[in-house]
Amino acid sequence: MSRRVHRLPADDLSNGWSALLPSRTARPALEGAQAFDWVVVGAGYAGIAAARRLAEQQPGASIALVDAGEVGENASGRNSGFAIDLPHSPGTSPALTEQGRRAIRVGRFALGELDHLIRQHGIACDWDRRGRYHAAVTTKIADQALKNYAANLDSWGEPYEWLERQALKDRLGTDYYRAAIYTPGTYLMNPAALVRGLADSLPEQVTLFENSAVLEVEFEGASRLVRTQQGRIRFGKLILAVNAFSPSFGVYRDRQVPILLFASLTKPLSPAQQGRLGSDTSWGITPAHSVAGSTLRLTSDKRLLIRHGFEYSPSLRSGEVRRQAAKAAQLQLLKRRFGELGELEIEHFWMGWLAVSRNHAPAFGQVAQHVYAASCCNGSGIVRHTAAGLLIADLALGRHNSLIDDFLVHGTASYIPPRPLQDIGVRLQMRWELARGRAEE
Ligand SMILES: Cc1cc2nc3c(=O)[nH]c(=O)nc-3n(C[C@H](O)[C@H](O)[C@H](O)COP(=O)(O)OP(=O)(O)OC[C@H]3O[C@@H](n4cnc5c(N)ncnc54)[C@H](O)[C@@H]3O)c2cc1C
Repeated sequence: MSRRVHRLPADDLSNGWSALLPSRTARPALEGAQAFDWVVVGAGYAGIAAARRLAEQQPGASIALVDAGEVGENASGRNSGFAIDLPHSPGTSPALTEQGRRAIRVGRFALGELDHLIRQHGIACDWDRRGRYHAAVTTKIADQALKNYAANLDSWGEPYEWLERQALKDRLGTDYYRAAIYTPGTYLMNPAALVRGLADSLPEQVTLFENSAVLEVEFEGASRLVRTQQGRIRFGKLILAVNAFSPSFGVYRDRQVPILLFASLTKPLSPAQQGRLGSDTSWGITPAHSVAGSTLRLTSDKRLLIRHGFEYSPSLRSGEVRRQAAKAAQLQLLKRRFGELGELEIEHFWMGWLAVSRNHAPAFGQVAQHVYAASCCNGSGIVRHTAAGLLIADLALGRHNSLIDDFLVHGTASYIPPRPLQDIGVRLQMRWELARGRAEE
């Protein structure tokens, strides 16, 4: 039985990170009838890592990596560019501490893999171990979320600094934050440059097809195939690495919800504006309130990045009115923090989708006899979905890897009722979270 893919990605050509890079020629689209041992759909961190792992483990196998768009224009190239090494945990009981340690093991493994590939292939993506400030605007959230995070870090024996308002002003140039926890292990980068570099350094036995949206899949039986507008591939095994688009393939429909995020990059700050910032030459801030708060960066070329907005988006589309409102809100939020800098101008504004689950666990595993899927990044996909891609390949190869158990330490994504019940439940929950965190914007 074949399945039609009912919702396709649509690139709006707005990604600010790729606008900063030289143009890249996409690989040819899939044409005609072909056959591969493996097909991986989705060329983000997950799909690229899966394809590379398959090639390493089966040097004789043929592998097709198929993407609807161009590499770097997906969520993997549109994010805020934080490769985060440490998880968050709701508590510090011995069981939770052990679960956290196992999640750290997975994260460090994936970060090590990225770091190795960047060096090996000379990927120029501003990869820099700047660490991250996890910041609260209000005393209430500092007392709740930051103190809890400090307790997590103590229980894992991870180093950190607790910084109050004035220390943050000295380093970052804004006194907007009540307090922050600085941890040193996060890498910052241009994510579009990173994902392009990863795709363009894949081994020869991986054939990348871009601008090749999969329109139909046949999972079962002897005639397993994926079909695009101009071609089709018969495959031995299939890995779906399409994150927010998994439900369009009939996979994880009742496990994950799509979330729309917005981001902006300003023009480079003038030398006078740079002089009014703090002592850190570039930095990254993540919000202690993950739904209502804003992510910020000072990039290496002295632009400010802001990521704000967290919306349930079942249509995987957004209109111009909403975009303009989100862009205006981001400029206001920048001015609130950096009023002393005077005029700030947004040069690039874009949006992107990711997937979250109710219990923050990944959607990961075998979904049909010859089909595997890794999805639902829950917002930290640079590291987590690099791991997910490597590990789903190992699972599909039948290769034992104890990191799979560590990756699934919180289980897999739990059940979410179907639409329209899902719409009501998720919208109510999100409205409540946003109202509760309004002061953390
Ligand atoms: C604005 C924003 C900020 C973020 N900030 C961060 C951050 O700072 N740090 C972090 O770790 N994470 C961040 N994330 C999340 C992170 O980007 C994702 O978790 C990660 O990119 C997921 O990778 P992926 O490979 O699973 O999916 P994706 O990058 O979404 O790739 C899926 C691919 O599947 C393809 N696809 C879908 N349907 C089809 C089809 N029918 N046929 C062919 N191909 C198809 C798409 O074209 C796409 O290329 C952010 C996300 C956004 C949107």
